[in-house]
Amino acid sequence: MRVAIDQLAGQSAAAEHLSGALGADRLHHALLFAGPDGVGKFHAARVLAQRILCQRAPLPKDPGAACGECNACIKVAGSNHADLHVLDTEDRMLKIDAVRDAIAALHVRTVERGAKVLIIRDADRMNPNAQNALLKTLEEPPGHTHLILTSSRPRSLLLTVRSRCQEIPFRPVSTQGMTEILVRTKGLPELEARLVAALSQGAPGRALETDVPALIEARNQVADVDLRLEPGPAASVAEALKCAQQLTDDNKQLAARLDLLSVWLRDQILLASGAQSEIANTDREPDLVKLAETRGLTEVLRRARALEITRALVALPQNLNNLLITEQLCLALAGQPSSTQIPRLV
Ligand SMILES: [Zn+2]
Repeated sequence: MRVAIDQLAGQSAAAEHLSGALGADRLHHALLFAGPDGVGKFHAARVLAQRILCQRAPLPKDPGAACGECNACIKVAGSNHADLHVLDTEDRMLKIDAVRDAIAALHVRTVERGAKVLIIRDADRMNPNAQNALLKTLEEPPGHTHLILTSSRPRSLLLTVRSRCQEIPFRPVSTQGMTEILVRTKGLPELEARLVAALSQGAPGRALETDVPALIEARNQVADVDLRLEPGPAASVAEALKCAQQLTDDNKQLAARLDLLSVWLRDQILLASGAQSEIANTDREPDLVKLAETRGLTEVLRRARALEITRALVALPQNLNNLLITEQLCLALAGQPSSTQIPRLV
């Protein structure tokens, strides 16, 4: 099956640029795919690699596509093409030895004798020494070699590396664009697809890996916390502390839960401002309409502000006490004064 650059989901600008370059046979030998995590940079790098290595490319009138059927295409799809090298690791750092080995492999003659491709995923994980080791290859790649670097933090790369690459920006995908991707590729019903799209913040990679029932359960949990913590005489400190316990029972999930709460509150802001069609949690629309009406815009914004401070604190690299921070949030949602002071970090 044809594998083509123009099929890059939600990345029409990048796709157009790359298709144009392939059509004119002027593809830059060193590319930097820059953009947020999960928007499809690595997938795009693999698609481009397949196009570069395809034995039948360029196809007549279809310069951006690989045939998907030749030996090379089959090997790329199976991740066992001798001339496709991928530097990717679960580790926080890409070690200089791995970079040197990959560069050495580019100089080895292989049976394919065609182009070679080196993909470096999250290239900003290379320390300055590893990046320096790459400079000469970026400048003068051996033979028909293409280097494709991906990064969500391109500014962390050395200027000498960046300046030798052509940067291709990848953008967050719109909710509508991602809904279409999810309906098409995962067969999700429209309503569910829209919810997952809205909750995955422009990242199809994240959206496609989403466990939908688990996501909806987590969303329901944070919605329940928001519903229980209503300011007024009924609100209790004990209830707020109980909610904080629930939100932090799995520390690894806290940031994701706060993201879901943020989208839940954003929907209330939209409804309180009259923008009904834009909400993400469409399956809970009646609840949200009621909350927006009874709370009003000022109260909803107050809640959203308290949450933003909490999210900023949780995202800090210092090891702050997540339970303590979340307790402050829940007390604020319940309209209670804080029991202790959070250090002034934001
Ligand atoms: Zn092919």
